[in-house]
Amino acid sequence: MVSRIEENIQRVRETIASAAERCGRRAEDVLLVAVTKTRTVEEMAEAVRCGVGALGENRVQELLLKREAWPADLSAEWRLIGHLQRNKARKVLPAVDAVDSLDSLELARTLGRIAEESGRSLPVLLEVNTSGEASKEGVAPEGLFPLLEGVLAECPNLSPQGLMTIGPLEGGERAVRGAFALLRTLAEGARKEFSIPLKELSMGMSGDFEWAVEEGSTMVRVGTALFGARN
Ligand SMILES: *Cc1c(COP(=O)(O)O)cnc(C)c1O
Repeated sequence: MVSRIEENIQRVRETIASAAERCGRRAEDVLLVAVTKTRTVEEMAEAVRCGVGALGENRVQELLLKREAWPADLSAEWRLIGHLQRNKARKVLPAVDAVDSLDSLELARTLGRIAEESGRSLPVLLEVNTSGEASKEGVAPEGLFPLLEGVLAECPNLSPQGLMTIGPLEGGERAVRGAFALLRTLAEGARKEFSIPLKELSMGMSGDFEWAVEEGSTMVRVGTALFGARN
């Protein structure tokens, strides 16, 4: 008996694969991150049992509660994808494998210090506001290089793996693709400028992950298309 979540995962994977194929990319180069805000631990565990390896949570409190209730025999990668306040960094750090929403040098310094205390290197993505929408988190495109320079110079325990963005709500396909292309261009520029791989591009959600894959996404963050509409 195939569950709804399993079916949805299958469908999303097929969509990723055909988008990748259309532009000469490999489906394996696109990580499916299940976005699990408001979902139960049971739903999340089912997704992981169906082969989804990475979970994206937005809120620190919710993430911590779920990790406590998480089945001991089931392993997954936990990524924080929502805005992180500095005063919650200490609490959340032991519970996550990566922070995908790094958006200021102050936060980077705090995370870097705590990572150092616990003797680990924390993978991070730098979040860029590619749409200019005021409601969006992330550094402005022109703030990216200064932020990355600061992280590389001052935060040896942070390991920048790439960039993250949320596509615009307005403007349709053109605007969304434009935002994703901008993220890709920024990453290309940053790789040259700082001589680091900066390989990951986290972009694409339920409504636009197909376009994101065509624009070079290596990590799509999908909630609704896997678990259904949120309340
Ligand atoms: C909620 C959320 C998503 C997933 O949104 P869906 O439309 O449900 O796929 C992706 N990224 C971030 C940062 C989110 O907050």
